[in-house]
Amino acid sequence: MCGIVAYVGHRQAYQVIINGLKRLEYRGYDSAGIALLNGGLNVYKKKGKVADLEASLKNEGHLNSHIGIGHTRWATHGEPNDTNAHPHYSANKNMAIIHNGIIENYASLKQDLISKGHTFQSETDSEVFIHLIEHIKDYEKCSLDEAVRLAMTQVVGAYAIVVISKEDSTQLVAARKGSPLVVGVGEGEYFLASDATPIVEYTKKVVYLNDHEVVVIRGGELHIRTVEDLPITPYIQTLDMELTQIEKGGYKHFMLKEIFEQPKSLRDSMRGRINADKNHLVLGGLIEYQQRLMNAQRIVIVGCGTSWHAGLVAEYLFEEFARIPVEVEYASEFRYRNPVINENDIVIAISQSGETADTLAAIELAKSKGAIIFGVCNVVGSSIPRATHSGAYIHAGPEIGVASTKAFTGQVTVLAMMALIIGRAKGTITESKFQEMITELSSIPDKVEHILKTTDEQVRYIAEEFKDAKNFLYLGRGYNFPVALEGALKLKEISYIHAEGYPAAEMKHGPIALIDEQMPVVFIAPKDSSYEKIVSNIQEIKARKGRIIAVVTEGDTEISRLSEFTINVPQIHEAFSPILTVVPLQLLSYHVAVSLGKDVDQPRNLAKAVTVE
Ligand code: GLU
Repeated sequence: MCGIVAYVGHRQAYQVIINGLKRLEYRGYDSAGIALLNGGLNVYKKKGKVADLEASLKNEGHLNSHIGIGHTRWATHGEPNDTNAHPHYSANKNMAIIHNGIIENYASLKQDLISKGHTFQSETDSEVFIHLIEHIKDYEKCSLDEAVRLAMTQVVGAYAIVVISKEDSTQLVAARKGSPLVVGVGEGEYFLASDATPIVEYTKKVVYLNDHEVVVIRGGELHIRTVEDLPITPYIQTLDMELTQIEKGGYKHFMLKEIFEQPKSLRDSMRGRINADKNHLVLGGLIEYQQRLMNAQRIVIVGCGTSWHAGLVAEYLFEEFARIPVEVEYASEFRYRNPVINENDIVIAISQSGETADTLAAIELAKSKGAIIFGVCNVVGSSIPRATHSGAYIHAGPEIGVASTKAFTGQVTVLAMMALIIGRAKGTITESKFQEMITELSSIPDKVEHILKTTDEQVRYIAEEFKDAKNFLYLGRGYNFPVALEGALKLKEISYIHAEGYPAAEMKHGPIALIDEQMPVVFIAPKDSSYEKIVSNIQEIKARKGRIIAVVTEGDTEISRLSEFTINVPQIHEAFSPILTVVPLQLLSYHVAVSLGKDVDQPRNLAKAVTVE
């Protein structure tokens, strides 16, 4: 996954790159490194976080340079250590590369280069790329950008790369295929980065690169060409992002900030789209494809992780309101089967980052089979929105904490709006039901605000009580079954406690064997159509002495009598209850992780924006 950043211009490159790497650290934090043209071409790299690299360079007096490249790594090939850290030199050390992605045919390329006399320092696939570029450059006697372009025709896999070379201290050459890359265009300066967060404090003018494009920044000019060597006119866009959005703003962690931002992010996802008073609900991206959606014989939803959970909620929403059969698939499984996709199918691809490699590949597969693809993403200008026919952004603002929170509630909100629009157009819900539902939807931000105010302290207490548990079980039914999965995932991700989500009724078919007086069981049990049934499930756990924590609707007394702890959420139509019930579970995982002293924003082995398959 990893984050890459590069700079050329009038500023001190070191500072721009270090700050940028800190912003991109959510993408990987196994090691960090930087290369500067400061007299020679010097690479500084270190296992660990960007702060470790910075500390190691504290007494380094020669970091003056106006051009450089930097990398924060999420290792795929080769263990996280100093040697495998990027940047990687070419054999003659005249060039260095940073790379995000995977070169699938690196082994055969490496073998070939070894037979030509190359020796390698690291175990990475990335080092092979720069040696290949070097080999082509020497053999063809061509320019660096030409060598990069030719190398692209030989490598198989995904990459965003930036190459720096001793031969020209005004030059950076970059390219992408499958991994994101943004160019920031300042006054006499240029930035390159995996996303816009390292760029926004300097310029709002950006160019999102497309796959198979090569960028050359040289002598203060920007040129883009395709891998077929055709010139491209850069399309400069203006970023809609403020610096405050990507800073912690007084919170201890990004995750906590993002949990508490949800009233705002939910308002933002509905802004301009929903007006309960006027009975108005519109999603711009849907208009053109509304008829196709209404006539869809099936909707296939693809996503990974939390986005997949949002997809599961959407399955209930679309089937209930629009009466369209839905299948929800892990993107990684979907793409490696031979899925039956017809022209009358609609595929909805859900991804916070809009860069998830498996989801992108699933989109390409579904496209090739003639389906219409609709994207539900957060990061504006990312790859998935550009690869889909249409879509809707969730407008949750930058999500930096690795454990997704506000993106989930934003995804469910947008998917709920879609289901209501289609249901109304198809006539599968009545006008009065539609009106009732959009009034309910509009009430969500205030209700989430209320939950945050009233439950945070209590959840912190519960977290303290249960932090030493070795396992957790999360149980829910109907709309709240996916919330059980999401609650368990949150806990695993950041506290490293084993947790499983299950449909509450399924528990009898296995997991109930795990219940004893040590086992915390979190029930998501608001007053909904399966309330009576879940009360019975709670009884079953209580009879076996499990420790029950229940998320219930305010005013519930029945479940409170059975549970050790109950957490109240306001009344809402059951279809939207996941947006409320998930909030205390986000807080629970957060507080457990904090009390265990875990690194909440950068949990081990994980990274955000999974741009590798
Ligand atoms: N494959 C490269 C490595 O292992 C880059 C990984 C990444 O994009 O995070 O170093």
